[in-house]
Amino acid sequence: AASYLSTEISETEAKKIILDALETNLAGNWSKIYTAEPHLAGTNFGLVQFTRDKFEEYGLDASIDTYEIYVSYPNDHDLNLLDAKTEEILYKAPLKEDVLKEDETTHGNDTVPTFLAYAANGNVTGQYVYANYGTKKDFEQLQEWGVDVKGKIVIVRYGAIFRGLKVKFAQENGAIGVLIYSDPGDDHGITEKNGYKQYPHGPARQESSVQRGSVQFLGGVGATPGDPTTPGYASKPGVERKDPHASIGKIPALPISYREVKPILEKLNGEGHHAKEDSWIGELEGFKYYTGPSKNYTLNLYNDQIYNISTLYNVYGEIPGEKRDEVIIIGNHRDAWIKGGAGDPNSGSATIVEVARALGELKKAGYKFKRTIVFQSYDGEEYGLLGSTEQGEYFADKYKRTVVAYLNLDASTTGSHLKLGASPLLNNILREAAKELEYPAKGVGSLYDHFVQETGDNIKNLGSGSDYTVFLEHLGIPSVDLGFGQGKGDPIYHYHSNYDSFYWISEFADKGFVYHNLAAKYLSLIVFGLGERELINFKLTDYSKDLIKYYNETIKAVPKKWFHQEISQETWDKYLNHDIADIEFISKATSRTYLPRRWFPFPELLNVRDCKMKGHLMYDSKHHKNATLEDLLLKTLEDINTLQNSTVSFDLKTFDLQSQHENKDDLNFWQRFKLHFQIKGHNKLLQYFERNFLYHKGLYERPWFKHIVFASGRFTGYEGQTFPGLKEALEDGDFERFVDWLGIVSKAIRRINAEIAVK
Ligand code: GLU
Ligand code: CA
Ligand code: ZN
Ligand code: ZN
Repeated sequence: AASYLSTEISETEAKKIILDALETNLAGNWSKIYTAEPHLAGTNFGLVQFTRDKFEEYGLDASIDTYEIYVSYPNDHDLNLLDAKTEEILYKAPLKEDVLKEDETTHGNDTVPTFLAYAANGNVTGQYVYANYGTKKDFEQLQEWGVDVKGKIVIVRYGAIFRGLKVKFAQENGAIGVLIYSDPGDDHGITEKNGYKQYPHGPARQESSVQRGSVQFLGGVGATPGDPTTPGYASKPGVERKDPHASIGKIPALPISYREVKPILEKLNGEGHHAKEDSWIGELEGFKYYTGPSKNYTLNLYNDQIYNISTLYNVYGEIPGEKRDEVIIIGNHRDAWIKGGAGDPNSGSATIVEVARALGELKKAGYKFKRTIVFQSYDGEEYGLLGSTEQGEYFADKYKRTVVAYLNLDASTTGSHLKLGASPLLNNILREAAKELEYPAKGVGSLYDHFVQETGDNIKNLGSGSDYTVFLEHLGIPSVDLGFGQGKGDPIYHYHSNYDSFYWISEFADKGFVYHNLAAKYLSLIVFGLGERELINFKLTDYSKDLIKYYNETIKAVPKKWFHQEISQETWDKYLNHDIADIEFISKATSRTYLPRRWFPFPELLNVRDCKMKGHLMYDSKHHKNATLEDLLLKTLEDINTLQNSTVSFDLKTFDLQSQHENKDDLNFWQRFKLHFQIKGHNKLLQYFERNFLYHKGLYERPWFKHIVFASGRFTGYEGQTFPGLKEALEDGDFERFVDWLGIVSKAIRRINAEIAVK
């Protein structure tokens, strides 16, 4: 009866129901509600209930899931500039953002103090040094200039990398405290210097605005996302708690505004090294960017936070489909640093509610999706992807078995420029859905036209910094991150500041909530495209094409002297025998039940997944001396090229099966019976394609990160890296590790080749 229902309403009719529902735009209403109260992790129960009630109202099966997570809350802080000799206070930073008459969010006593979550408690006094963005390279540069940060307080500006890694590198270099400030030089030219007025009188940054945020060591060596006390397993009551310091720091840190940093950096003028490189110079006026330190001045930095284990809440809402074992998850976080959080995350929260409403309409009309759709609203993203990571760890096996794709919405709207990051499997559907929608600005054309004009059709690789991380990088689930962000003509986004408020979003960023609405339509069409078709709507060719690109980039960086260097017996054996055990369960799932060419009672003959690489190579363990890295690199390239050919045939097969399915009324009983199994098998290969890139031991010194193609950079946090195992070995100049990783990559590619070859 279920499939009868879904054929009642045609694809065109179903899309019309969705888009008609969204012709009424309620995003502004939800934004108003979501921005009306503070919502630090673990303190937003009102919005937990609101989200659950909304899901229920729209006909979803709603539930609440809790985790016990180690977090920190602001208690007290202080920052003073001192005369080093007399210890007289020369300047006391207010550590508060201005109250603005126009912006109601800034009124009242319930604004969240400026603080950096997970910064260690402490009260430190010392000389201070300017360290640019605080990247690994910046600290190396300071060393070259002979500027020692040991025992000093380090001042860094926001930008380039994730803030927590700035603290990590400062700590590793012996600093005793960190200040992070927002330099107008990083505001893309929307500055007073260029004639723009400050918010709320114009689009430029308000001078007292402060970016709060977490300083956990996101993506850094040794660190794991999620609760810092439960790396790799879920924070359910009673579990073992580990020392959190692999993932969080031991020195205090505070965030400050550019107005507050000015009197402090001014005092370094003429002291230490004069940083003349453009990459070191911001746009603050009245002094030159010197590194310091100065013997005459010190800083006193005091940070006090309350550390405890708190209950965090995730909310789920499900629309069961015909297939319960093929699930599409749409997720977004609910916690914010500040009362408003109109952009981050509440533009996303408002959009998600709109998508739930539209898909709810479709359900009410009697439509049943092929696949199950699950909405998830997470707590604690801001602290370190807490809610998403803990549940991803808790449901790891189930998710790896059942989830088809994960669609992430964080800030859906902080500007008018579409930004897309995705696993290449989803590129096609992202493009197709964008073609169906009109871009609001006149004369642009479709949303897709806009995207092509603005980005050259560039869908980015995912790194980290939002809730897709556990899905893609730990569980191998194809993921998307989308939203409208700041671009040409848009105002400065006051990220993690009090000015990310309802007033700002409704008066500056998205008048009429037009882009919120477009985001809801876009996401709904993507979900629809993934949920409704018989064959999973993935294109493998896009993946293999990108693999070739990533691989070529990677091998360009291989030093020529490595090409004929001798490979040790041990490394050679590893190269040949890598076992990528994490996907054994998939192997069983596909070969036992579904694969059409395997429903024959001779699974041993057909179990290509277990094939040893030895048979495929012209070398064996004894002859390793004959092989050079150059041979191995070429061999892998060949394999990736073969994969490209296989994916072309595979995608044709997907298309063919889909058409057969659409015309299945023309088939006789036996033909239909056969088609049913063919589709089932093919869908499993589509569903598990990305899982093939999981390596159970994970990346070097970052075992939590199991995807061998995509990971967040260990020195960047946010920005992604492709073939991270290979790239890291290159960065570290580690030849044997590079060969080892080439073995892992080759093994994965070969296995996929054998798996998807269309017979
Ligand atoms: N979106 C958060 C941020 O960028 C993530 C924090 C984290 O992953 O630690 O601050
Ligand atoms: Ca955990
Ligand atoms: Zn966010
Ligand atoms: Zn955020």
